[in-house]
Amino acid sequence: MNERLMGAHMPAAGGIQNALYSGKKIHCTSVQVFTASPRQWKYNPLKPETVEAFEKGKQETGIQSVVSHAAYLINLAAPDEKIRRQSYDAYLQELHRCAELGIGYAVVHMGSHLDKGEEGGLKTLIQSLSDLLQEMPEGVKIAMETMAGQGSALCYKFEHFSTVLESLPDERLAICADSCHLFAAGYDLRTPETYAKVWDEFDRLIGLNRLQVWHVNDSKKPLGSRVDRHEHIGEGEIGIEAFRLLMNDPRFEHVPMLLETPDVDRFEDDLNRLKSLIGKNE
Ligand SMILES: [Zn+2]
Ligand SMILES: [Zn+2]
Repeated sequence: MNERLMGAHMPAAGGIQNALYSGKKIHCTSVQVFTASPRQWKYNPLKPETVEAFEKGKQETGIQSVVSHAAYLINLAAPDEKIRRQSYDAYLQELHRCAELGIGYAVVHMGSHLDKGEEGGLKTLIQSLSDLLQEMPEGVKIAMETMAGQGSALCYKFEHFSTVLESLPDERLAICADSCHLFAAGYDLRTPETYAKVWDEFDRLIGLNRLQVWHVNDSKKPLGSRVDRHEHIGEGEIGIEAFRLLMNDPRFEHVPMLLETPDVDRFEDDLNRLKSLIGKNE
């Protein structure tokens, strides 16, 4: 078997290539990065030397599997056209930066409908995605993240993704599954039976081949709470058995698995904990 793609969302302070070097130090074989500030609309265009430093970083660390996470402000389902347009432009720029940096996936939250209701929100979201698919550069995919369902967030149900994909059966739309969000949204991964049921449902409504990125996080909040609070692996409400099932699921062994647990200083321990589960039968 090839080396598993495992890592974490690494800080990019001082230059995005630093995410690669600090990832390498804790034995990441894949990393997630912000290519711009996640809490601001404004961004500066990439400088050629940034692209060069990032390419060099990939060569020197051997980390070729890189995923970006788009800004949190982006709401592709926003009922306010000005905000939706701003979100659209920001995410399109993210996709361009990814293409330039050789980053294959740009993870994005599916937005909130606010006062519009889920059906209306999904319609707006589908319009945004449809336009993005027309305008986006080659070499990068849209990774739609499974959400916890806080507030009026969309896509905490597999049905929402199946609505999107029925309208837009495009290969460039992938799914980023977040274990904390799935659990908070009511998908129980804790026993072999419930775990199997979740993936049967996912496969029926979305198709397992769409699942191309994993965010591996435990959850501070209980099943179905619809509250998004990450916890370190095995220390939350999900518990270690679910992660054992996940790490030994051959359907996901080629999918990059990235931590977003609360404390960066504990990423290495979390990674080691996940790795120790591989090959373990109960
Ligand atoms: Zn996210
Ligand atoms: Zn989260």
